[in-house]
Amino acid sequence: MSAPVGSQPDTRPYLLERVDEAAVVQLYADGFDALPQRDKILIYHLYQAAIAGRDIYYDQRYVHNLAMRDTLEEILTHADGVPEETLAEIRRYTKLFWINSGPYNNLTARKFVLKCTPEAFTQAARIAERNGARIPRDLERLQPHFFDLAVDPIVTSKTPGAGKDILEASANNLYAGVSMADLEGFDERYPLNSRLVKEDGRLVEEVYRVGGRYDTYIRAIVGHLGAAIPFATAPMAAALRALIRFYETGETADRAAYDIAWVRDRDSPVDTINGFVEVYMDARGMKGAWEALVYYVNPEKTAGIRKLADAAQWFEDRMPWADEYKKQGVRGVSANAIDVVIETGDSGPVTPVGINLPNDQTIRELHGSKSVSLSNANQAYDKSTLPEFRREFAWSADEAERAEKWSSVASELTTDMHEVIGHGSGRIAERLQGNPQGVLKEQYSALEESRADLVALYFVPDRKLVELGLVDEADHADIVRAEYEGYARNALVQLRRVREGSQIEEDHMRNRQMIVGWLMANSRAIERRRRDGKTYYVVVDVDAFQEGAGRLLADVQRIKAEGDYEAAKALFETYGVHFDPALRDEVVERVDRLQMPSYTGFVQPRLRAVRDAGGEITDVQISYPLDLQTQMLEYSGRA
Ligand SMILES: [Zn+2]
Repeated sequence: MSAPVGSQPDTRPYLLERVDEAAVVQLYADGFDALPQRDKILIYHLYQAAIAGRDIYYDQRYVHNLAMRDTLEEILTHADGVPEETLAEIRRYTKLFWINSGPYNNLTARKFVLKCTPEAFTQAARIAERNGARIPRDLERLQPHFFDLAVDPIVTSKTPGAGKDILEASANNLYAGVSMADLEGFDERYPLNSRLVKEDGRLVEEVYRVGGRYDTYIRAIVGHLGAAIPFATAPMAAALRALIRFYETGETADRAAYDIAWVRDRDSPVDTINGFVEVYMDARGMKGAWEALVYYVNPEKTAGIRKLADAAQWFEDRMPWADEYKKQGVRGVSANAIDVVIETGDSGPVTPVGINLPNDQTIRELHGSKSVSLSNANQAYDKSTLPEFRREFAWSADEAERAEKWSSVASELTTDMHEVIGHGSGRIAERLQGNPQGVLKEQYSALEESRADLVALYFVPDRKLVELGLVDEADHADIVRAEYEGYARNALVQLRRVREGSQIEEDHMRNRQMIVGWLMANSRAIERRRRDGKTYYVVVDVDAFQEGAGRLLADVQRIKAEGDYEAAKALFETYGVHFDPALRDEVVERVDRLQMPSYTGFVQPRLRAVRDAGGEITDVQISYPLDLQTQMLEYSGRA
């Protein structure tokens, strides 16, 4: 199972199964076997730390999540005698629950429910209980959470409608009983790593740290991180020690010290992200969702990305925005192509394909940031995509062929550009004190994603990419066209992910919708065409696409740099949030006919430690479970 990709046809299973609109795909970490023993043992301890914190994310996402998951897993593992029809429905629901880490769709933020009757579910639970399952005594209490779409309908609601509060409209567990009005005049000491609770009319921060909220999980994480330190390089060991300190104190200064130590570790072959990181789940964009990734560098692919990173100042000097927003001496943009060994919490089973951290703007400006592109996740996505998917939404046979041939190359290239020269770029006004999030609030994440996407779209036709050896001159025009066509098509195809309502919630989706909508309204780049009752977004002018992307990018950078909240809001309200439900229905009908998945959950590799008589780890073996249920039950200790 460890043959290098490309040396022979890869006939391993990627697409394992379909669950409604989700695909389940196996992720492979080729190259693990070839790592030195020391790195394997290091990865093993970090892998344990990743599993140890997984339930923090479940609890953050929904206060009833863990009780719901326990109930489902107990039924599935004690199912003898449960009627087949009921069992099949519980299995379907549980798989979606695992893929989405709870009852909310990862992309739409909306709730999904069990479709059997509450009576059939209760009966199944009782049968399981007789088989030895531990079922909560107050199962009745959980029923609305399993069955009622109207109870806690949206996990994160950034635009709940006039007069409604974004925190009260969001079902996540980052706040309890708190509204935006309560926060006025409140000085938050732990903005990233606490749950805010209103107790007797007073706001209390429940800090995520040793001795605080999630104490048990955090102690376990700290234990595994400590065990990893002897196997790490000196800079990585320093970062791990700083991370442990932050988990112990929860103090913002220690988080900053950890970020700096993590960014300084540029050359270690193994790395991890472990902590409260991305803020998308919080309607305010402040609270960090817990996640963990463990990965090692893919040296071949990294060589290409490094060239891009080394040219960061060249790109910065040519950004299409005002000189006052250009950074001098862009440094510290480090980039690696990596293979992930495990992703949990906010990063798994649904995975990002590129990451740029830390999010702290001040640290990024002073110390730089690290970018990674998840090579094996990208590869698994590509291997599991059906060709019909591209054909259905392409206007011409030419376009479909171009997509077939170039989309994976083009998307890897633009993902790298997004992360390496996109997020790291630009300067913001001093008065924002490195914190544009504070003023741009719920618009910030989508705006920043747009900025990074636009940098990639603007520069992908540039000859510099040929000079850097990242694309062949002969293929360049085709790659650019394939990228623009794919980007335009996606604005249409992504509507399949929002099956209810007429609003997009997820920030990356808003960003892509906004860019295409803006280009359609403000340039000649893209035409909306109809044929045989089907809608197509057709790129008709590549030059106009690039020129338009540049104009929009200049404005997006200005909005970020000046913290122009009203302009950000207007941009997304006009082009990024609302869509025509009739068009969505058409898209859904087309994808359903082809049975296209809307999103993918990954089954991660599995590690097993080989120990000697004294309990010392002598080797680590990797294997692939090829089954979602097996992996999820292993993680929760029920396999
Ligand atoms: Zn991004």
